[in-house]
Amino acid sequence: ESQLNPNYSFENFLEGDSNRLARSAGLAVSAKPGGTSFNPLLIFGGVGLGKTHLAHAIGVEIKDKYPEKTVLYISAEKFTQQYIDSVKKNNRNDFIHFYQIIDVLIIDDVQFLSGKTGTQDVFFHIFNHLHQNGKQVILTSDKAPVDMQDIEQRLLSRFKWGLSAELQSPDFETRVSILNNKLYRDGVDMPEEIVEYVAKHIKTNVRELEGAIISLIAQSSFNKKEITLDLAKQIVEKFVKNTKREVSIDYIQKVVSDYFQMNVDTLQSKTRKRHIVQARQLAMFFAKKYTKASLASIGSQIGKRDHATVLHACKTVDNLSTTDKQFKKYVEDITKKLSV
Ligand code: ADP
Ligand code: MG
Repeated sequence: ESQLNPNYSFENFLEGDSNRLARSAGLAVSAKPGGTSFNPLLIFGGVGLGKTHLAHAIGVEIKDKYPEKTVLYISAEKFTQQYIDSVKKNNRNDFIHFYQIIDVLIIDDVQFLSGKTGTQDVFFHIFNHLHQNGKQVILTSDKAPVDMQDIEQRLLSRFKWGLSAELQSPDFETRVSILNNKLYRDGVDMPEEIVEYVAKHIKTNVRELEGAIISLIAQSSFNKKEITLDLAKQIVEKFVKNTKREVSIDYIQKVVSDYFQMNVDTLQSKTRKRHIVQARQLAMFFAKKYTKASLASIGSQIGKRDHATVLHACKTVDNLSTTDKQFKKYVEDITKKLSV
């Protein structure tokens, strides 16, 4: 059982500037698994940008070209669970052996291994064995290796051996093609004006883009509503609102660090340098504003601070944004970036 989803094919993975490198690398790996320098191939990017789809597509393509090869797709979460079970049942060696005889191993969402030292350790050994034997490893992650946290250095250095390719948010043209492709496959006709409206307003996440179009199709076929621009507006609004509510603390830290051109590590560090302190306070302020997390939880996620520090940060940002013009601009700019 390879666990591959045949619908997640290359054919259905539309190409654009946002994914060209990752897609081409995926094709190269599929043509010669284990035989390129893209080993491991690590695909990284934000939520809903196609990591899982592309990882499957590579597996599906390899299985098609090389039916004799064993290809296995597994999420890092399931891998971890299997490992824990194997330890409980005293068959850790069987677990390792099972993975060492695979030709193409695809592990999705490796950021899940953060802090799980036992699983990281066993994966390190499996990885080395596969790599030495010319087997292909494909990984996906929500972050680039440099930004991964609580992953052992020796494993991170392995992740960097091959190619890390980023999936970015697709541009407008690509979003339109993704929607049209989906409509075509579902045999649905939709006015181009509406397709473009949806593509124009949902920008950062392909899953939401598809979700909006699926809602539209459902409304029209089950509720027999005509697909009008008004209906499209209502649906898009719901999706855009949901996205805003779902902003994560990780994402906020990333956006704030990017804005000040620093690493998330720097933002979280203990330093008292003024611009870094301000960046950290802004991240805390936005985490309070846009997430449901408690002050304590915000503090622990932003550089292991306590709730009083977060409270102080929120007050400081409130004050400064009324008294300091430059600071007010920071808040406005970051607000815009967070609510794309
Ligand atoms: P991730 O794993 O990065 O969160 P997924 O692979 O689950 O994202 O993709 C979310 C949805 O968007 C899936 O239904 C996938 O088929 C679709 N998708 C993403 N990128 C593309 C693309 N370039 N072309 C077509 N569909 C895409
Ligand atoms: Mg995924």
